[in-house]
Amino acid sequence: MKTLQLETKVKQTLNKIKIPKNARILVAMSGGKDSATIAYLLHKFGYKIEGFHIDLKIGDYSERCKKAVEELCKNLGIKLYLYDTKKNLGAGMCYIRTAVQNSPGKNKLKNCAICGVVKKWIFNKEARRIKANYIATGHNLDDEAQTFLMNISKGSPKLSANIGFVTRNIANKKFIPRIKPLFYIPENDVREYAIKMKLPHVKDKCPCAIDSYRIQIREFLNTLPSKDKENIIRNFEKVRKRIEKKKDIRMFYCENCGEPSRNKICRKCELMKI
Ligand code: AMP
Ligand code: ZN
Repeated sequence: MKTLQLETKVKQTLNKIKIPKNARILVAMSGGKDSATIAYLLHKFGYKIEGFHIDLKIGDYSERCKKAVEELCKNLGIKLYLYDTKKNLGAGMCYIRTAVQNSPGKNKLKNCAICGVVKKWIFNKEARRIKANYIATGHNLDDEAQTFLMNISKGSPKLSANIGFVTRNIANKKFIPRIKPLFYIPENDVREYAIKMKLPHVKDKCPCAIDSYRIQIREFLNTLPSKDKENIIRNFEKVRKRIEKKKDIRMFYCENCGEPSRNKICRKCELMKI
């Protein structure tokens, strides 16, 4: 995909979300190519952004991620909020996930699933504390097509409710909407763009990302042309429109931490009750 074509596609996605220009967007920056591209583009398009990085304390990998995020934020002249998991949660992500997996009934949970729940919980809580209006993440077309296929093949299409370029139907004053401006951009195009624009980023994957099922699905999807991956997502959107209930999703507040939750106890607290 050409540079201009990628930028136009991202702009079109942002236009669909109708973000007011004075809204504060907190960009969840992992140190990877996707969130680096998002920060760069949102800044280029004139949005009011700040960076947010969770230091997962996964050894040297986390150190390099933090450095890349710090460098990009400095280059863009944007403020960076750092969240230290050891200071705030009492342990690094490796320890948290091992403790969860060693507790009864939770040994089948994948590393990335546990990390994802905890990260989303942190994003919401911190974005609200910082008074941001949106959280932007770097999820790309491949990530979303993988998640969708995994949900289908595991027989839980309801889980796909979170797929989309903006979280929908959640009207709750403690919930900060999440946006995914790279929703329609294939991973390889994001990679090329980040390299072309010389955006500081870490190239290797998280050493804990060993979800073999996702890897299998990714390998299968990589045998398809990008257009087919886009078709998977576009077809999903069409089906969703038909079956979607217009009603807002009912939210409670977690009895343990007070964060918005679909159940009495949120997924993060459920996981970390060990
Ligand atoms: P992942 O779940 O690792 O595929 O990451 C998906 C998105 O979540 C990334 O594109 C980032 O926007 C965000 N993210 C992941 N890890 C971090 C982190 N350590 N700090 C801040 N944001 C993150
Ligand atoms: Zn909770």
